[in-house]
Amino acid sequence: MPLVGFGLWKVDNDTCADTVYNAIKVGYRLFDGACDYGNEVEVGQGVARAIKDGLVKREELFLVSKLWNSFHDADKVKPIAKKQLADLGIDYFDLYIIHFPVALKYVDPSVRYPPSWTDENDKITFSKTPLSETYKAMEELVDEGLAKSIGISNYNGALMLDLLRYARITPATLQIEHHPYLTQEGLVNLCKENNIHVTAYSSFGPASFVELKMQRAHDTPLLFDNETVKKIADKHNKSPGQVLLRWATQRGVAVIPKSNNKDRLAQNLDVCSFDLEKDEIEAISGLNRGLRFNDPVNYGLNIPIFA
Ligand code: NAD
Repeated sequence: MPLVGFGLWKVDNDTCADTVYNAIKVGYRLFDGACDYGNEVEVGQGVARAIKDGLVKREELFLVSKLWNSFHDADKVKPIAKKQLADLGIDYFDLYIIHFPVALKYVDPSVRYPPSWTDENDKITFSKTPLSETYKAMEELVDEGLAKSIGISNYNGALMLDLLRYARITPATLQIEHHPYLTQEGLVNLCKENNIHVTAYSSFGPASFVELKMQRAHDTPLLFDNETVKKIADKHNKSPGQVLLRWATQRGVAVIPKSNNKDRLAQNLDVCSFDLEKDEIEAISGLNRGLRFNDPVNYGLNIPIFA
């Protein structure tokens, strides 16, 4: 699995196919999507064009997608995975991930798609399906060749330890919010001890959530403007964004930054060509505040999965 990939959340539908095509041209091979990003058809168009133009072969790409919360019931996993594959125009995922450790009531895609945190009556309704049953259905996707590997996202240590008791197929990856304000050392170490890759999302901390007008993000200084990060960036002649990504990759954590900007797209891929000193990594880790942005509660939803 590549250490640097491209994140597809909030990539607009009208520019998405071109963005994916350009990202492949620049050298990205891993794409991190999800049905709830609402752009899988356009992602597929970008991928198909790149393959048709001979930029890349399907087997050189690492395509990741996620199972949304309202498809956790065991009999709903395969049908939605197949719909997502059809939308993307591919016949297998390289990695398919349980997006959040919470099962919500099934809403048929013909009623609402992309899915949401609420049901067809705009209410939060939980499903009774435990995570172990969902995971078993995910394992069957691997058995049937629909996914080369499976993973989880937004799990904490207790859920990981539980999963490791029942998993027949060890998850390839845990994807978590991870940046200098939320370093999650214990969880990263737990994964390392169990040979599970960790992928960081929202590597730039509040930046992604300022665009969503989240108050907590507005109230937090941007990591790009942090003096420690800026000083280290100047010393290495790199941008603060590159330093934030290198801080993660050098600790063995994969990154999937998102950018609609061509220069940043290239910049974000070039984050393994320089090394930070040990004390620089420690100084950045020292910014930790246990500050999480991507929590349903921060969107006003009473689904306290991180409580
Ligand atoms: P991000 O941290 O990658 O990007 C945030 C913002 O930073 C964007 O607005 C972008 O324009 C800007 N940016 C990008 N590169 C920059 C640079 N070099 N310098 C300055 N600004 C830069 O945000 P993200 O989209 O939240 O996370 C990345 C990906 O992680 C998503 O696209 C998605 O694929 C995945 N993700 C997964 C989950 C999950 O629950 N599993 C949640 C959130 C995101």
